Order: sequence, then structure tokens, then C-alpha cells
Amino acid sequence: MRETLGHPTHGYYATRDPLGAAGDFITAPEISQMFGELVGLWLLFNWLGAGSPDPFNLVELGPGRGTLMADALRAARVRPAFLEAMRLHLVETSPVLRDRQQETLLPATAGLEPPQWHEALADVPDGPLLFVANELFDALPVHQFERSDAGWRERAVGLDAKGAPAWCHVPPGSAFALIDPGMHALPPGSIVEVSPAAIALAGEIGRRIADGGGAALIVDYGSARPTGRPTLQAVRGHRRHDPLEAPGAADLTAHVDFGALARAAGETGAAVWGPVAQRDLLQRLGIRERANQLAAEATPAQAADIDAALARLLDENGMGSLFQALAITGGDTPPPGFAG
Ligand code: SAH
Repeated sequence: MRETLGHPTHGYYATRDPLGAAGDFITAPEISQMFGELVGLWLLFNWLGAGSPDPFNLVELGPGRGTLMADALRAARVRPAFLEAMRLHLVETSPVLRDRQQETLLPATAGLEPPQWHEALADVPDGPLLFVANELFDALPVHQFERSDAGWRERAVGLDAKGAPAWCHVPPGSAFALIDPGMHALPPGSIVEVSPAAIALAGEIGRRIADGGGAALIVDYGSARPTGRPTLQAVRGHRRHDPLEAPGAADLTAHVDFGALARAAGETGAAVWGPVAQRDLLQRLGIRERANQLAAEATPAQAADIDAALARLLDENGMGSLFQALAITGGDTPPPGFAG
């Protein structure tokens, strides 16, 4: 999964911009500017709540086309001191998407400290942290463990007699130690996914916030605990694809285990909130009011687009409930959208 997505010459992300109608999938910030704007206000509110640290690091992991961050910074202009204190760090492994992000974010930060790009969160300097990642954790590699009648075994990818990639079984590797103990009671046939990379990343975010203060918002599709069914999937041209076919040509994702992220971040001493459904978060942050405000100044065709985007982001049978948000903070009051 790591090589398929991240290989520097053959990897899926290294070689293309996958977003949008002509690409393989679309994300919330690409559907509507309202998503990034509300995230920007969420970050601003948490900065004020943390005592307006100056300077602070604003970090986005996996910024795609830079759309979310550009919309967030526009919304944050209501407090110029936020933008002046901000040191913007973008963590992106894809050279193609880095170029896209520069086109979007260099104009959006004109007159401010220039943004910096990094390969990994570890390269971002310590200090107060405001953090956002949308649809990043689902791209981190998972291990799959299957409960058979004879006990647990790991699903792996080997080669069949013709030399093509094929599923096989091996004894559980070290990642097995990370599965939620509650999962041991699952019946034979169950498959549990674990992402050591996601757990390590959540722990690093928690540690930085516990040490330096701040807040993180993680949005992705997933649930509070694994269901016992595999979620690893490949998507190409907005359709399901065989994950073992044409590695590097299709996106690979797995649902995010928010319970595992919450435990890893919580162990550092940071406070963890949620997960809450995207629908609830966006409504509590005022997306309906923002949509009405935009529609009041829009042409009828634009107003119809705003309505359609709103419905899609909040859809109870789609993005609104499949996507969940987790917050990590340094304080003991719930951040906006996470109370009640
Ligand atoms: N957040 C954007 C893009 C989501 S697509 C949006 O919501 O539209 C996933 C993004 O994560 C891409 O920018 C991809 O290049 C990046 N990415 C994938 N694996 C990564 C990794 N290990 N480290 C940093 N970025 C990664």
C-alpha cells in the first residue's frame, strides 16, 4: 500500500493529481469553499482559545490542491494577527501536488511569512501547533488480520504461479500487537485492519499538542472501532477497482479506525474529542448560515450549486455520516462542533 501510493516514480500520488470530476475521486474542500472556510474559523477559534500564541505552526498534512488551506486562510482574514503569527507548513509527498499547492498557496500568503513544504511531520519545527488533515489518514498503509478457526493470521500479498500479485496468509507480524484487545472476541471469518503509521502519526500530533499547545482536526471516512470487515479498497475513475490490479494506477484507501487514533493521541496527555459525524460538525459550525449568505449574493445557477454542495457534504447516507471528525486539543473545553 505504501509503495503503490507513495513510490517516487511509480506511486499513485507521485505521478498525478487524482482529484476532481476528471480524476479518481472528489473531496469535501473540492466540493465547496464552505468546507475550508469553516475549518479556517475552527482553527482561528482554537488559536484564540490557546491564548493567541505568536508565532505558531499551522500544519496541513496531504493538502491536495491547496484548496482547503486557501479557503481557510481567506476566512481567517477576519483576524489579521492570526495570519501574521502563522508559520504555514505543508506536508506533502507528491511533487505533482506540491506544484499545485504552490500555485494556490503562494498567492494566498502574499505579504506573509512564505509557506514551507516538508516530506514528513517530523520535519516541522516544535512549537504551538494548529493542524488539519482531510482524507490523509485513509491513505496510510494498513495490515489485515483474519480470524480463522485455527486463530489469527495476517493477510499478505504474494505472487501466484504466473507471477501476478495474489492474496496469501502468513503468521501475524508485529503490527498484531496494536489491535484493539476487544477485537480478539470477534468470530472466525472476521478481518481487522490496523495502521501502525496512522497510530504513530496520531501519537506524534498528540505529543506536539501536549508539549506546545494547540489543536488538531482530523477528518476522514471511518468509524469509532473496526467492524470486523475489511475496508481496503481501490478506486479508479470514481469506480471500485481490484486492489491487486495495476498497482500505482488506482487510489488505495482503508477506513480510519478513529478509536485507535484517539487512544494513541490520548496516551500523550492531549485531550481527544469525538469522533463526530461530518454532518454534525459542519452544521454546528454554521454551514447552513454560510450557505444562505452565499446564496443571497449568487445567481440562480450558483444558488443551485451551493444547495447541491450543501446536500452532498451533509448527506446522511453519504459523506455526512461516512466521514467523521476527531479533534485533539491542549485544553479541557470541547472545541467548536464537538460539544453535545
Ligand atoms: N486533503 C486534500 C487531499 C486529499 S488526497 C483534500 O481534502 O482535497 C490525499 C493527499 O495526501 C494528497 O495530497 C497526497 O499526495 C497526500 N499524501 C498521501 N500520502 C501521504 C503521506 N504519507 N504524507 C504526506 N502526504 C501524503
